[in-house]
Amino acid sequence: MTVEQTQQQTQQQIRDVLSRQRQYFSEGNTLDLAMRERYLLDLESALISHKDQILDALRLDLNKPAVEAYLAEYYFLLQEIRLVRKSLKKWLKPKKVSSPIYFQPCRSEICREPYGVALVVAPWNYPIQLALAPLMSAIAAGNTVVLKPSEVATASEALLVKLLASVFPPELVHVQTGGVAVSSALLGEKFDFIFFTGSTEVGKIVALRAAESLTPSVLELGGKCPCVVDSTADIKLAAGRILSGKFFNAGQTCFAPDFVAVHESVKDALLAAMQCELEQVPWHLEMAHVINDRHYQRLSNFLEGLNDEQIVCSGEDDRSICKMAPRLVSGIDWDHILLKEEVFGPILPIVSYSSESDLVEKLREYSDPLALYLFSESKSFCLKIQQSKRSGGVCINDTMKQSSNLKLPFGGVGDSGNGRYRGEFGVRAFSYERAVVRRGKLGAQKMDLKPPYGKLFPWLE
Ligand code: NAD
Repeated sequence: MTVEQTQQQTQQQIRDVLSRQRQYFSEGNTLDLAMRERYLLDLESALISHKDQILDALRLDLNKPAVEAYLAEYYFLLQEIRLVRKSLKKWLKPKKVSSPIYFQPCRSEICREPYGVALVVAPWNYPIQLALAPLMSAIAAGNTVVLKPSEVATASEALLVKLLASVFPPELVHVQTGGVAVSSALLGEKFDFIFFTGSTEVGKIVALRAAESLTPSVLELGGKCPCVVDSTADIKLAAGRILSGKFFNAGQTCFAPDFVAVHESVKDALLAAMQCELEQVPWHLEMAHVINDRHYQRLSNFLEGLNDEQIVCSGEDDRSICKMAPRLVSGIDWDHILLKEEVFGPILPIVSYSSESDLVEKLREYSDPLALYLFSESKSFCLKIQQSKRSGGVCINDTMKQSSNLKLPFGGVGDSGNGRYRGEFGVRAFSYERAVVRRGKLGAQKMDLKPPYGKLFPWLE
């Protein structure tokens, strides 16, 4: 078969799936709340019974340490499904609001309604969690789903196909595997909602395709998350918490601290504390690998031209298995490439600033990130920086915690994306608020708006 024929076949397959899902949705099959709860329970059970396979797939794709895979993908998902199952009825209960006196008798409500057929496109860095979390929210809200996992995390992709087919009929959930061509083919079809997680660059393509068909979307994108350490910060605590956030999943986390901006008066102290931390904690023994050789090369390019004094490295690299040791890079300026492009790997650049206004000016040069990390004992400093730099979330005196609480919304702003999900915010993302008014009969006719208007509004005559 030629490439063109294969593409046509894939497009036809996608259209068939879409038409089956559209029919399933329009017949009202997803509207039964009890049925949605049952599917969520089935998904929860499938996760539990596939636990070892999930951890194995993540080890194969990224060499994720079992504890990281367990906490950030498996257990995090279980927690979210349980929260959603427990609270769904409450979240979806129509919200009664008051009605103007001249509508009476009348009842006004805000109802949460599913969009219909949703497309979820996922990335490779948390390939199970970032595919299943939006999928679960979509099902909870009453949609059908076409999921396109990342083609880069192949073991996770294969597992998702198997696991989801064991829980859902294809007219409710279909997994469409493939790379850019398949993703583009999907975006060429009309969906009722698009949820995309990935790079800002591809996010712009998705936004354009969504705009062409006026499809609402949530975009969860990337960027450079700054981590600021001011002169009042607890340096030892900052060093430990920054490195643990940075080297989790080998820095391949969209909201990982991307670079550190430290006040010049504490720069040496912070570097010394980080170096000490790096020597004491065996990251090089239990750290995920870089996803593939292309990304390994991309990260290696960042290090070109740097000398040994600028890099602190702990452990050995092994390119044949994409194992890259954690590195701190200092003695570089703000115009170095490490301060320009999203790092997304186990390299942490550290630069200094001289004053609050210098910092504010420098941070303003960056597009809005998913997260802003501030290490400081000064509440006024934190507030000033928070107010001068937008971000999807803020975490003070730690890293990553703003994204680990399911009661908080997760998402970006500006170039790091738009829309929110997780827990209730996920169910909100995949549904729209519908205004529903029911008028009564008793005495209502007197107020009906029809000529002669002078009878109703004599003072306007
Ligand atoms: P990516 O944008 O390359 O790919 C994401 C998905 O889009 C994949 O499924 C891929 O097949 C598809 N895709 C790639 N190119 C496409 C194109 N031209 N047209 C249509 N679809 C296309 O991202 P990635 O490399 O998988 O993930 C890393 C990036 O994602 C980083 O920038 C990271 O910051 C970001 N990210 C963001 C979040 C978040 O929640 N905001 C989470 C994880 C990753």
